[in-house]
Amino acid sequence: MCVCCGDELDLAQAEFVSRPELCRACRLAPPAFVRAVAYGPYQDGMRAAIHALKYDGLHPAARRLGRMLALAIAPLAAEAPGEMLVIPVPLHRSKHAERGFNQARLLAAHALDALRTTHPEWRLTLASSTLMRLRSTASQASLTPRQRRLNVRGAFMVFDPHAVDHQHILLIDDILTTGATARAAARALMQAGAASVWVATLARARRYSRNGHNESASDSDSFTGDQNQTTGLRDDAPADNPASMHGNQPSF
Ligand SMILES: [Zn+2]
Repeated sequence: MCVCCGDELDLAQAEFVSRPELCRACRLAPPAFVRAVAYGPYQDGMRAAIHALKYDGLHPAARRLGRMLALAIAPLAAEAPGEMLVIPVPLHRSKHAERGFNQARLLAAHALDALRTTHPEWRLTLASSTLMRLRSTASQASLTPRQRRLNVRGAFMVFDPHAVDHQHILLIDDILTTGATARAAARALMQAGAASVWVATLARARRYSRNGHNESASDSDSFTGDQNQTTGLRDDAPADNPASMHGNQPSF
């Protein structure tokens, strides 16, 4: 996987490029964030759980998912700064009004609860009103990577630049697909004076399926899963077995 964004690497190209540890996107247009980490792939039980949270408003899912997000964030403790502002990717106010809550904020709050126990020395402060979404961006689901970049370009603004000036930021979202949203938000934060931006998401969706069709990390049901993908949910969370969370009655 790409050491920067976590996307799958095209190993066939590895010997022909100068920085084989990076994916093509990160080589050609380095993102403003240092690194993006995710708990696991956007599929099966993870996909069902995120849907339950976002679209069915199943808030008990957030606690469980927040703990999983904390597991993704924990390894950053070794290399990220010891004091960070944790900023959930905001929804536009119209979307927020429609959904009633921001799932990224909810996940961030639960992840911080878990990290306070496991990493009490890590000073992580939730700053959920620091970043604003200026535009109600079209759903990314049916867009190509290029369209996604254009769709979110300039969509974010830092409400109070003093709040992020010289601060290290941990940006939180539920899903990362092309990274367009994380890139746009990270750029806005860096332009406002942030010292560094790191990104953690619950799930990582692949940019493209193997047949070349764009995959949705949103709500379309085009995702068919992939038996060859080996990066399943972690072994250390057996209760999060996709089978137990699949279907209409996720077992949180
Ligand atoms: Zn990358």
